[in-house]
Amino acid sequence: MPPVDAHGPPLDVLGRPLGNLRVSVTDRCNIRCAYCMPEAHYEWLPRKDVLTFEEIERLVGVFRGLGVRRLRFTGGEPLLRRDLPALVAGVARLGLDDLALTTNGILLESEAARLREAGLHRLTVSLDTLHRDRFRALTRADALPAVLAGIGAAHRAFGTLKIDTVLMRGVNDDEMVPLVEFARAHAAEIRFIEYMDVPGANQWHPDALVSRADMLARLAAHYGPVTPIEDAGPAPADRFRLPDGLVFGTIASTTTPFCRACDRVRLTADGTLFTCLYATEGLDLRTPLRTGADDAALAAGITSRWRERTDRGAETRLRLASRTAFEAPAATTPHLQMHTRGG
Ligand code: SAM
Ligand code: SF4
Ligand code: SF4
Repeated sequence: MPPVDAHGPPLDVLGRPLGNLRVSVTDRCNIRCAYCMPEAHYEWLPRKDVLTFEEIERLVGVFRGLGVRRLRFTGGEPLLRRDLPALVAGVARLGLDDLALTTNGILLESEAARLREAGLHRLTVSLDTLHRDRFRALTRADALPAVLAGIGAAHRAFGTLKIDTVLMRGVNDDEMVPLVEFARAHAAEIRFIEYMDVPGANQWHPDALVSRADMLARLAAHYGPVTPIEDAGPAPADRFRLPDGLVFGTIASTTTPFCRACDRVRLTADGTLFTCLYATEGLDLRTPLRTGADDAALAAGITSRWRERTDRGAETRLRLASRTAFEAPAATTPHLQMHTRGG
């Protein structure tokens, strides 16, 4: 592992430090959420290009040496990667402040305890509805019972978890209160996410957006006044308290982007680095990794890409005069899909 830079993590053009790494371990998924994978067929990353656990661990070590302290495993669906707890254990040994995983929960029931034992700190499960028919319509899979079993197992193994819900007008926005109560019953903190017009979300439309202001108004109408919780730091979720003390979050990436404080970098399953969710060009780390580059050379490549970073993707989208779905990337361009870069 290279030594931690005595001068701290590299800064980008806007002075943002490199601090947070999202590692997508696969671009494949066992469901097809309408806001993420709306097409029937996709072109996948070639299997031979997908990084091995050893390769991922080595790259994470390089990021760790550059000052990254927070890491989230994502996908596609990360639990499709066989024996994921072994990767978690390897990365946990690198000593991060925060080691988390986002999953759709379908395969979680049998894995939750193993993930905990492997050293995972936190789990986030995506859950958009509590209605089985609606889940099927949203995802093309009859998998809600498996997700609920996974959440139960996560609750038992970790004691607490986060639940992420993408709210869509006319689809699931009538479920805010039942979802809050479900989260309460599972000691979970729920975060309501604004529907984002990211590459791959080909069905995005402004009418489907439920803004944070709207979310807060709806919860206040049911529970009474909600109080913001002061929470410094680069995390995108804003947290609030209900009058009864329950804490929930919102992620308002569409109406109130947090690009100014964004310290995130994304690594795809084939080792391509993206410095923004909306970036169309990535940096190939797989080729140098597989052709003998040492850690110092990999670190130098990452540092120089970060130092030239100017991305403010969501803010740029916000300034558009009229907003429709992101110029639809074809299903044959895996790197431009949300499910490849991990959300
Ligand atoms: N498959 C895992 C899951 O669904 O939790 C991890 C990968 S998924 C791409 C990561 C997160 O991105 C999920 O919480 C999902 O809800 C979110 N997401 C995907 N498309 C989105 C969109 N268009 N707007 C907002 N969030 C989105
Ligand atoms: Fe849904 Fe996650 Fe799969 Fe995208 S990657 S389709 S958000 S489960
Ligand atoms: Fe960061 Fe890009 Fe998202 Fe803005 S749009 S918060 S720069 S990833």
